[in-house]
Amino acid sequence: MYRIDHWIDGRTVAASSGRAGKIYDPATGQVQGEVGFADVADVDKAVATAKKALVEWRSTNLSRRAEIMFHMRELVAANRKEIASVLSKEHGKVLSDALGEVARGLENIEFACGVPNLLKGGYSEQASSGVDVYNIRQPLGVVAGITPFNFPAMVPMWMFANAIACGNTFVLKPSEKDPSASMLIAEMLKQAGLPDGVFNVVHGDKVSVDRILDHPDVAAVSFVGSTPIARYIYETGTRNGKRVQALGGAKNHMLVLPDADLDMAADALVSAAYGSAGERCMAISVVLAVDTIADALVDKVKSRIPNVKVGPGNEPDSEMGPLISGEHRDKVAGYVAGAAGEGATVVVDGRDGAPADGFFLKPSLIDDVKPGMKCYDDEIFGPVLSVVRVSGYDEGLQLINDNQYGNGTAIFTRDGGVARQFQFDVNVGMVGINVPIPVPVSYYSFGGWKASLFGDLHMYGPDGISFFTRSKVVTSRWPDPRTSRVDLGFPQNR
Ligand code: NAD
Repeated sequence: MYRIDHWIDGRTVAASSGRAGKIYDPATGQVQGEVGFADVADVDKAVATAKKALVEWRSTNLSRRAEIMFHMRELVAANRKEIASVLSKEHGKVLSDALGEVARGLENIEFACGVPNLLKGGYSEQASSGVDVYNIRQPLGVVAGITPFNFPAMVPMWMFANAIACGNTFVLKPSEKDPSASMLIAEMLKQAGLPDGVFNVVHGDKVSVDRILDHPDVAAVSFVGSTPIARYIYETGTRNGKRVQALGGAKNHMLVLPDADLDMAADALVSAAYGSAGERCMAISVVLAVDTIADALVDKVKSRIPNVKVGPGNEPDSEMGPLISGEHRDKVAGYVAGAAGEGATVVVDGRDGAPADGFFLKPSLIDDVKPGMKCYDDEIFGPVLSVVRVSGYDEGLQLINDNQYGNGTAIFTRDGGVARQFQFDVNVGMVGINVPIPVPVSYYSFGGWKASLFGDLHMYGPDGISFFTRSKVVTSRWPDPRTSRVDLGFPQNR
């Protein structure tokens, strides 16, 4: 048993509320630790610390900020196995997947190393006679990140790297289900040379989130999690005058056209539906199979499922680990249990043969799924792939565009013209063409449309820099005193 507490002003600080959450080992189902939950006073302490640290941090020169990010990049790279093993221990994901999470998070720290270049503004000399106009980007102040359980290292890296590099100070409220990665990050940032108080972590539940949303000294909130909570965060935070970006849930469809390489499509489907036990917001959870190839595609996916090695995340040959909690496992299993009653065909039932200890389910494949069935309408967030049979491109596209979510989607085809049309037509934020999980590289930005994102700016990349800064335009004149005169007219350029 171990205990996780907050990280405030460069050291661990015990939670003062007396409340705590259990940390499970999802591979055994046993409690392995506890995490102290913040009350209002703990959040206030973290925000006050961040506010104090802001004064010096926002004045720290860009080279030094970049240098700290470079050091952090080296530390994360050097310790990636240790971080991955912590991820696997609390989240349950297999080590190869956890290493992938660290690698994709690291990209964002690398991007933030370029902050001197990223913050360059524009300059217009002689906008009027003797007048120059230029644009500068300044930090917002104290900003907060609230993150989900499924990427306990990568999603915080999406946020804090750009936020801190831009001169803000940061309070992270990670998922209470797997809080340890955030503490490793905090220690590494300190080791990288980040001054105390610039990065803080408070653990907890709704109490801490609500205080962040209420706190007058928090200028902005970056959130990733489920859609109902994202909507709540966006509405509450913006009502309180904060800048908010809130990324929500997903139901990602892959459209497989008859000309696609079906073996490649089946490999991609198994990887994208069952990787990380389906607990990825970019997981493919629905395949839209055109009637003429649907039987063949279902057979190909079905034949691959028995080869997926399900087991504890820290065992080297496991390919898919357990789900995050017993409650979530039971909820996911409920969708499989209810599918036949709604008229779908359960081709592979992942409840069969799942390891008894821990929160395991094996991959499930459900055919003949239609809108209106629960397994179609809800985000399941588990290793369940639904097959919807469609007559062709138009019906497939319509289903994607009618869906409430718009996070990711993919098309598998050999026809470049159709793929290009799809990219033009589809109302989804991230599109893969023969790529099942199109998570953008860090120098683009990540974000969905519709109920998958509340707010205007996407996460990380150029949008991340915009989110964590505000623009100031300076109009300046260093006049020749000989040209000085009184002029009561509105300033003009001609
Ligand atoms: P969640 O919404 O339950 O929790 C996210 C965060 O919100 C956590 O820090 C949690 O403590 C906090 N929270 C939970 N309930 C709250 C409440 N009532 N009031 C205030 N705060 C609350 O999400 P999760 O289960 O941790 O993560 C899975 C979800 O996140 C899925 O829906 C998934 O699609 C989504 N997700 C989206 C993206 C994306 O980029 N769009 C990425 C990863 C995960």
